[in-house]
Amino acid sequence: MRALLPRVLRLLLTGKKGPFVFDRQQVQWPARPASLNIYIHLPFCRQLCAFCPYLKEVYDPSLSAAYQQALLKELESYRRLWGDINIESVYFGGGTPSLTPGIVEETLSWIAGNFRLGGEVGAEIHPRDATPSLLGALRKSGVNLASLGVQSFNDRLLSLLGRDYDSKLARQACQRLMEAGFATADIDLIFAIPTQNKEEAEADIAAACSLNADQISVYPLLAFSYTPLRQQLHKDGLSLPPWWRERQMLGAIVKKARDAGYQRTSIWSFNKPETLRYTTVTRDAFIGIGAGASSRIGDYFKLNTFSVAEYIRAAGEGSPLALATRLDASDKMAYWLFWRGYDLAIDTSAFRSIFGQGLPYRLRALLSLLRLLGITYRKENTIHLTDRGAYLFHLIEKEYTHAYLETLWNACMEEPWPQRVVI
Ligand code: SF4
Repeated sequence: MRALLPRVLRLLLTGKKGPFVFDRQQVQWPARPASLNIYIHLPFCRQLCAFCPYLKEVYDPSLSAAYQQALLKELESYRRLWGDINIESVYFGGGTPSLTPGIVEETLSWIAGNFRLGGEVGAEIHPRDATPSLLGALRKSGVNLASLGVQSFNDRLLSLLGRDYDSKLARQACQRLMEAGFATADIDLIFAIPTQNKEEAEADIAAACSLNADQISVYPLLAFSYTPLRQQLHKDGLSLPPWWRERQMLGAIVKKARDAGYQRTSIWSFNKPETLRYTTVTRDAFIGIGAGASSRIGDYFKLNTFSVAEYIRAAGEGSPLALATRLDASDKMAYWLFWRGYDLAIDTSAFRSIFGQGLPYRLRALLSLLRLLGITYRKENTIHLTDRGAYLFHLIEKEYTHAYLETLWNACMEEPWPQRVVI
C-alpha cells in the first residue's frame, strides 16, 4: 500500500509500470560534461542520533584521515576522465562536515587546483561546532553557503530527538552563523516531532525568522525502519503526530514564514527574496563523492558503497561504485519533473531546452487536470504549484522517500556490495 502513490506517480510521469532495478552494472560515462555539481559525503559524527537515516559513523581520527585520502582518489578518477571541467557547486553533507573542517579545506583546495570551481560552496554545520573560529575557517576555505542543523529551539523536543545541546546554544550558534558573512545562512528545523503541537512548530519557525536566517528549511520527521527511532518511540509510548496535526503544523509554518517576508522556494524551504538557495538534492547533473553518495549523471543514477571501510579500500583500488540504474529518456524527464515539483515550479521552456521537445501529451493532460483541481496554475511559461499542490507534493515526497530511498538505503546499509535492489 505504501508504495502505491509513488508507483502511480511513476506511471503518470514515465508511462511505465515496471520498477527501478539497481544492480552492479558497468557504467558508460558521458563525454566531458559542460559543467557539473559535486556532493561530498562526510559521514563522521560525535554521536549518532536515533532518528537519523543517513550514512554516519562515530568520529574516529585515523578512519577520518584515511577517508580524506579516499575522497581525493575518487575525485582524481573524475579528473582523469574529464579533465578540468567547470564545477558549478560543491556541497559537503553528512554526517557532520563541521566536525572535520580540515577535510573540507583540503578537498576544496584540491578541487580548486584541479577543476574550474564556480562560486557555490555549501557545508552543513552542527550547532556545537559553530564557534567564530570554525565559521571563520570555513569562510576562509571558500565555503559561502552554510546550513545549521538546529532541528528545534525547544528544549523538550531537542532532548526527545537526542540532540546534545539546548536551545540557548542553538540560538547562540544561529547568531554566530548570521554574523559570519555567508552569502546564505540556512537554519534547518524538523517538525511533526512526537508530542509537538502546532504552537510549538510555529514558535520554532518564528525563532528562525527572528534570528534573520536567509533560508529556513523545515523537514517532517520520518521514521525509517532501520533507525532506532521506532523502537525508541514504542518504548516511550510515543508516536508520530497524526496526519491532520502534521498538516496543521505545516500550514502554520508556511503562514509564519510568509508573514515574516519569506518566499516558499520548495515544499520544505523558505528564502528571503533574492537569496541564493542552499540546495543539494534538486540539481540536474551531479556526482556524489564519498561513502553512500549518489550521482545523477548521463544515463545513470548510481550509488557508492555505504560501508566507510569498503569505500576507503575500493577508492584506492578502482571504483567505490556499488549500484547503478540506467535511465531512459522518459525516466530522465520524470526525474527532472519530480524535482521541479519539489521546487514548486516547472519551467516548460527549460524542459524544452534540456530535452529538445515540449512536455509529452500524457504530462500536458495531467497538468491540465491538476490545474482544474486547483493544484497548479500557469504564469507565462512556468507551471506553479498552489498551496494545495504543495501539500499534495509534501505527501508524495514522504511516500517516495519511504518507498524508494528507505528501501534502497536499507539494502545498501545491510550489505556493502548488494547484487540487486528492486524498488
Ligand atoms: S542527525 Fe546529524 S549529527 Fe545526528 S547522526 Fe545524523 S548526521 Fe550525525
